[in-house]
Amino acid sequence: MRSEFLSFSPPCLSEQEITAVTEVLREGAWLSSGPRTKLFEENFKKTVGAPSALALNSATAGLHLGMLVHGVGPGDEVLTTPLTFCATANVVEHVGGTVTMADIDPETLLINPAEIEKKLTPKTKVISPVHYAGHPCDMKTINALAEANGSFVVEDAAHCMPSKIGGDWVGASDNLTSFSFYATKNMTTGEGGMLTGKTEWVDRARVLALHGMSRAAWNRFAKGASWKYDVPAPGYKYNMTDIAAAMGLVQLSRLDELFERRMTIVELYKKELGASPYLQILKTLPGYQTSWHLFLIQLNLETLKITRDEFIEQLQAANIGCSVHYKPIHLMSYYAEKYGWTPESFPNATRAYERMISIPLSSKMTPQDAADVVEAIQTICKKNAR
Ligand SMILES: *Cc1c(COP(=O)(O)O)cnc(C)c1O
Repeated sequence: MRSEFLSFSPPCLSEQEITAVTEVLREGAWLSSGPRTKLFEENFKKTVGAPSALALNSATAGLHLGMLVHGVGPGDEVLTTPLTFCATANVVEHVGGTVTMADIDPETLLINPAEIEKKLTPKTKVISPVHYAGHPCDMKTINALAEANGSFVVEDAAHCMPSKIGGDWVGASDNLTSFSFYATKNMTTGEGGMLTGKTEWVDRARVLALHGMSRAAWNRFAKGASWKYDVPAPGYKYNMTDIAAAMGLVQLSRLDELFERRMTIVELYKKELGASPYLQILKTLPGYQTSWHLFLIQLNLETLKITRDEFIEQLQAANIGCSVHYKPIHLMSYYAEKYGWTPESFPNATRAYERMISIPLSSKMTPQDAADVVEAIQTICKKNAR
């Protein structure tokens, strides 16, 4: 057993990030959105091939702006997956919309387009698919369903980077797409996000992201610039700081290295756990590149004498940090009460939830860390086999 606790998903930082942030502070010129934020937007846009990119203080902000740009309000439905972080649904409530959901595919845990088709109504203003664990959804089918129904698509790409469909990066389409740089995500700025999509929509989001002001500080405080601005709409305070952007620029430049390190751990897990009779690993589909944001095991509960929660307790006792992604939206008290959802409302999501564990995965992990995780899992399985 490990003597030191293995953290679930620590950031992978180098001296480069530390130097970059320190430089911002030493210069002492732009702490908030300034030249580094602009450059981060430019570089991110180039990397994923996006029409436009807007740096924000979170992915949640990007999802909220997506709802606002598409005019979601009372009477409008937003169709999403039950197996997501609460933010995907919360932003719909923030604008007074109605959350509707389509159950997941049991093997990929991604929203199932056949279920989307059943749940679409004339009121569905937005479909909001989540690229769960960084595996892209079937966007060709989802975009076609949206178009036929007159709906917009807002993609939750919080788990992506780098995720691709064929040769195209998630973020390259016209759909508003929201990325997260939260501390546990594949690339991080501590807190942060990026919204990509069609230029006209991203420009609208840019105004709403900074109080609704017609011109950003960036344009007002530069030498020779005018102080004047208008407020055509009451906006929000969602902009990224140059301190965060300095980190983001370095993390983006290290993306290949970070992904390679992550894949070393993933391949080791796949090899050691892929054939276990006690659990299943996530299925990945040909033609897609997943970012492997999460590595899930789903317990074959029939083969074990313990529950998922007991399994987690034993992993933690063995100094292995872990997590669950996610307790589904329909089981959260606010949503269960408001919409009258029960565990049976979305049976595939409920079933997956009851047996899933996210095991440690980060670009910071060593092969020895991964071997410790595998050993702990195998020991617990054997000890508790039915
Ligand atoms: C992390 C996450 C978010 C929110 O990201 P923030 O940057 O923390 O706002 C939204 N959706 C999913 C699926 C996430 O994992």
